[in-house]
Amino acid sequence: MSAAAIRSVVIVGGGTAGWMTGAALARLVRAGVQVTLVESEAIGTVGVGEATIPPIRTFNAMLGIDENHFLAHTQGSMKLGIEFVDWNASGHRYLHPFGDYGFDIEGVKFHQVWQRLHAAGNAAPLDDYSLCAVAARANRYAAPANDPSSPLSRLVQAYHFDASLYARYLRGYAEARGVVRREGKITEVSLRGADGFVEAVMLEDGSRLEGELFIDCSGFRGLLIEEALHTGYEEWTHWLPCDRALAVPTANAGPLTPYTRCTARAAGWQWRIPLQHRMGNGYVYSSAHVSDDEAAATLLANLEGAPLADPRPLRFTTGRRKQAWNRNVIAIGLSGGFLEPLESTSIHLIQAGISRLLALFPDRGWGDAERDSYNDFTRTQYEQVRDFVILHYKANGRDEPLWRQVREMDVPDSLARRIDLFRNRGRVFRREDELFAETSWIAVMLGQGITPQGWDPLADALDAGQLAAMLERIRSTFRRAAEGMPDHAAYLARHCSAR
Ligand code: FAD
Repeated sequence: MSAAAIRSVVIVGGGTAGWMTGAALARLVRAGVQVTLVESEAIGTVGVGEATIPPIRTFNAMLGIDENHFLAHTQGSMKLGIEFVDWNASGHRYLHPFGDYGFDIEGVKFHQVWQRLHAAGNAAPLDDYSLCAVAARANRYAAPANDPSSPLSRLVQAYHFDASLYARYLRGYAEARGVVRREGKITEVSLRGADGFVEAVMLEDGSRLEGELFIDCSGFRGLLIEEALHTGYEEWTHWLPCDRALAVPTANAGPLTPYTRCTARAAGWQWRIPLQHRMGNGYVYSSAHVSDDEAAATLLANLEGAPLADPRPLRFTTGRRKQAWNRNVIAIGLSGGFLEPLESTSIHLIQAGISRLLALFPDRGWGDAERDSYNDFTRTQYEQVRDFVILHYKANGRDEPLWRQVREMDVPDSLARRIDLFRNRGRVFRREDELFAETSWIAVMLGQGITPQGWDPLADALDAGQLAAMLERIRSTFRRAAEGMPDHAAYLARHCSAR
């Protein structure tokens, strides 16, 4: 990449977004670009964000990070999916596993074949045909294999980790590669008269930091993108009414599961994220439906281990910045928008923003094409994640006021069409570049109680006896593969422990 038009990049903010961006842009330093990151210890970071989705592995691989080393330094654990508890009915639980269910058979989607057999009583629960789900339920884990003939090639994974430690880890990486960190509080943003571009930020100590490209990683406030450029925010609270969270770490108790758990509560949902040194917990709730005190009492009454701190309150407004790239400012992280962490997507949205920035880096100056492409893709991606998160609310089976309200609401047309399509014939129709795979849609649609009225007629053209035998082979192969895996905690202690 040539970076002729940009000699100096300033990253504002040193949370997960800032240091992920700093680490990725460190490669520009080699091309002669100065990369500076300003952060303020006095302001601090949001300090939550512990569950990820599989593409995080691509990001770490791009940086050349060793998995075990990184997990040891971030107290991380493995994640094969998410368990949802009590969303459909009290006591009901389902898994959203990573990786595929079974294999497509003669061009027919596996879940279509499964639906046909299951309706006739000739198939086990769908989870039995997902190696991630089988391993997760057994609290087992083994490294995925590259050899496609190995069942372990069917494992797809992400991580849980301490996001503050991840930021610190990436800070070390970025600084070692020439990214310069400036400690200090930005008190003023200077705009160029001619075109309103940001030309410098002023620090509390009176120093002035100039740049050509500014990456706003300043968190919810959007110091540059909103406070300086007044870009505007599109709110989605009418679809996603939760607007607060309480986060509390606890001592580890209970199994170190290789999956995140999200349990529905009266006015929101509670997360449980197992790390090596502690458990991350929190309650995401709608302040219109429960008081802060009641929410705290619910959270504290539903913890497995002893709390290690008081619950930490957080407030947010779900939605997205109207333009992620405005003039010479690109908002990455919470400054660009927020979607509740039900499907662990925020860190991914940071990663995706960074990838787009690298792909569309304005090295030839400030063309509309790069900016508009960036904004277009960002909007589409946020909307796709938004729809997927809304699905969990829309298709719930609970009876409290929040849950009745969201079940009865109108959802975006894009989601309504997907639900109809699934309800008719269990079909999932998605663009190739969409974040959530077919497995994700199937798992959540079925898990939330959307039952297809039939299956794809193509599945009827296959021999039922042969299909049943094939499904049984897949099931027993996965069961044996999971039985051969080490216990998740034992794997971490052996390969990824900081001790
Ligand atoms: P922040 O962490 O807020 O960092 C902002 C930075 O800007 C800080 O360094 C601050 O010092 C600096 N700054 C601000 N103002 C100034 C100033 N004036 N001068 C100098 N510096 C300044 N994501 C996931 O992927 N998975 C999850 O499980 C998950 N769970 C979450 C749970 C909750 C309740 C919330 C609220 C978020 C969760 N997230 C999750 C999102 C995740 O926390 C964030 O996406 C991630 O931490 C990135 O935050 P950030 O770096 O954008 O902002």
